[in-house]
Amino acid sequence: MSSEKFIGSTHKYRSTNQRHVILEVIKESRSHPTANEIYETVRKRLPNISLGTIYRNIDILFENGLIEKIGPITNQMRYDGITENHYHIRCIRCGKIVDAPMRAMNGLDDYVQRRTDYTILGHRLEYVGICPDCKKKEDQMHALEGRKKLTDEDV
Ligand SMILES: [Zn+2]
Ligand SMILES: [Zn+2]
Repeated sequence: MSSEKFIGSTHKYRSTNQRHVILEVIKESRSHPTANEIYETVRKRLPNISLGTIYRNIDILFENGLIEKIGPITNQMRYDGITENHYHIRCIRCGKIVDAPMRAMNGLDDYVQRRTDYTILGHRLEYVGICPDCKKKEDQMHALEGRKKLTDEDV
């Protein structure tokens, strides 16, 4: 997505060990650390590592399903004109966000508050999926690939 990621993929040296340490730090932490917090901990073991390297490796770990992201999936913050609680569907391909066609389950807040010491202010729920536009594009791509395979086999 970013040019930094592109550069990163061409520099594969050293990166395996760095990535291993970063993954260990994330797995050991129970606090859902931010990139900066990960950086501070990793730096104790690898003093020369840069924040950019941390970000790059976090992306790779996420893409390989080794860690989960919480919060914005893309690095762009998004804004919403509707301030009362409602749910979203986020396309994992293009990042598009639409409102989910359902009412917020406000009873959940009371339920959690009664069972914890927290003052619950609200909750967020986000569905993730592939939007119709991206689905269509993928179907077209698969159709093209299928056709190409057929002609290759014909030759
Ligand atoms: Zn999409
Ligand atoms: Zn919305």
